[in-house]
Amino acid sequence: MANKVYNFSAGPSVLPEQALKEASAACIDFENSGISILSMSHRSKPIDNMFAETEEYLRELMGIPENYDIVFLGGGCSLLFCMLPMNFLNQDATADYALTGVWANKACKEAKLFGNVNVACDTKSETYSRIEKNLNLSDNASYLHITANNTIYGTEWQSFPKPKSGFLMADVSSDFLARKINVSDFGVIYGGAQKNISCAGVTVTIIRKDLLGKVDRTIPTMLNFQTHIDAKNMFNTPPVFAVYVMNRTLKWLKEFGGVEAIEKLNREKAALLYSALDASKVFVGTAAKEDRSIMNVPFVFNKDVVAADKADDLAKEFLEFAKARGLQQLKGHRSVGGFRASIYNAMPMEGVQALVDCLGDFEKKVL
Ligand code: PMP
Repeated sequence: MANKVYNFSAGPSVLPEQALKEASAACIDFENSGISILSMSHRSKPIDNMFAETEEYLRELMGIPENYDIVFLGGGCSLLFCMLPMNFLNQDATADYALTGVWANKACKEAKLFGNVNVACDTKSETYSRIEKNLNLSDNASYLHITANNTIYGTEWQSFPKPKSGFLMADVSSDFLARKINVSDFGVIYGGAQKNISCAGVTVTIIRKDLLGKVDRTIPTMLNFQTHIDAKNMFNTPPVFAVYVMNRTLKWLKEFGGVEAIEKLNREKAALLYSALDASKVFVGTAAKEDRSIMNVPFVFNKDVVAADKADDLAKEFLEFAKARGLQQLKGHRSVGGFRASIYNAMPMEGVQALVDCLGDFEKKVL
């Protein structure tokens, strides 16, 4: 029999099998209606109920208080990079951006189109391999923007910085519901769903109600968060199927025991993989130990053991070696090189153990 496949992709990524089965069945017949979810009007009662239930799951799992709205939108997280400053940053105001990776930079670039930006930190010269905690914050910032987990570099904020003024805004695309956070510490929490909570096609933005309606500019209707809040996420045809995959993934997470239970498992998985890397003679993790992500684990060959001119061929060999064991999509991001194991919520401990065994066996082959 072929090996069980474990998918370490950084995104779109592994989702719970149960959620995938339920979503597949709904493509043929949604809740015994005889109609596929893909063909059902978003104005119908079943879809309306499903949206309300998805929001309820999110509120319960994350502990989202009543004074926050939840917006589901298409367009990807990259659209939110521009929508957020458009809705929250006045032309003459300043926002602080902590540049801890490529995604933070992309968010910052968009903010500059709408107001002033103060760079609170920038670790580009260190290939973003660590999180700078000593931030240069402005006195009158509208908000401080951070990327909670840096998908490419495998670093995450272990504790969140406090803005000097304004509110904290966080891109949680790659650690959505992976660990417990206190929603009230943030003004805005947002992210794409295609890593931990659904397939591509939907984003989630969680907004403290009192922050909206403060900018002077005219905001196009579709790009105004208030439009979607007023229309209960049905202003136009929303990405119904992606919201349903989220619904099933959140149901799975709730049955699993919620965020506390998944965080415990996530920490155990990460600890297993990092201790294997730390003990390895051939592989080495690239992120600063104190900032290591529990979601994305980038690693490269140890330069003292694998000569630079041999590294490319050996990397291909390792990826083939892993693939033959069912371990897929381990290639690293081009800006870091090497390998990256993304071990999101739906990656079981067995998958991480299989990877650790694979690293050990490859090391024996090489040494
Ligand atoms: N933010 C982070 C932290 C990401 O990892 C990504 C995608 N990898 C994005 C934003 C961009 O998301 P999208 O492709 O949905 O625009």
